[in-house]
Amino acid sequence: MDFTGKTAVVTGGSRGIGRAVCLELARSGANVALCYAGNETAARETVQTVEALGTKALAIRCDVSNPGQVNGLIDAVVHGFQRIDILVNNAGITRDNLLVRMSEADFDAVMNANLKGTFLCMKAASRLMLKQRYGRIINLSSVVGLRGNAGQVNYAASKAGVIGMTKSLAKELAGRGITVNAVAPGFIDTDMTGALPEAARAAALAAIPMARLGTVEEVARAVAFLASDGAAYITGQVLAVDGGMAV
Ligand code: NAP
Repeated sequence: MDFTGKTAVVTGGSRGIGRAVCLELARSGANVALCYAGNETAARETVQTVEALGTKALAIRCDVSNPGQVNGLIDAVVHGFQRIDILVNNAGITRDNLLVRMSEADFDAVMNANLKGTFLCMKAASRLMLKQRYGRIINLSSVVGLRGNAGQVNYAASKAGVIGMTKSLAKELAGRGITVNAVAPGFIDTDMTGALPEAARAAALAAIPMARLGTVEEVARAVAFLASDGAAYITGQVLAVDGGMAV
């Protein structure tokens, strides 16, 4: 894979899967702009690690659910790098609870960050990609968006929604040199899953045919493939990276 001269925007690129995606793309030559919600230390550390790989990096604080901040993010990337070739919509949160105990605020927070955030970033970046007549959009869904999960009505709805948006936008942009795909990770070892109670982790592990958690690098490599020239004829697809969970 060769991303030399290409610019990637990775939302939620400061930690976890997003950070691994930044590094994977940079290793193949991409300049990387990442956004983060509030953890400036992690963002700065990711920028330094990308720069050590020999490409340019930029970190911008941006809440992806805020339209003004998303437009500011895209403007800043264009100002810094002139183009956007790859957009990875990775920023995401969980606010788990059983439906009867789930607050409306927790439902809205997850839908806003995961679903509306993806919508806003795709809208802002695709304007530029249409002018370039080139682009790769990769959205992070989840095995939970494919299969559902008790205690995650909000999260499952947001991640199933991401799949619907991916397929719809793929059809809108297919004739313009822009592909839109989703990656659906299973249970990956990050801060997000680290916060789960031990019983929930054990139950999730029992549901993985490969009997282990996935690594952030394993997800990042799938994202990089979908961003590469080798995936030029693939659009509207959902690639599960889940050790067989969704089979
Ligand atoms: P994580 O370790 O919790 O990291 C989340 C990242 O998103 C951080 O960089 C965070 O920024 C950023 N973020 C959160 N809300 C944001 C917002 N409103 N605006 C901008 N940035 C925001 O998460 P992860 O486990 O790597 O997950 C990454 C993606 O993969 C998510 O979409 C998640 O749903 C999906 N996924 C994860 C798993 C898994 O097992 N981990 C499985 C399936 C799907 P700060 O550092 O500033 O907080």
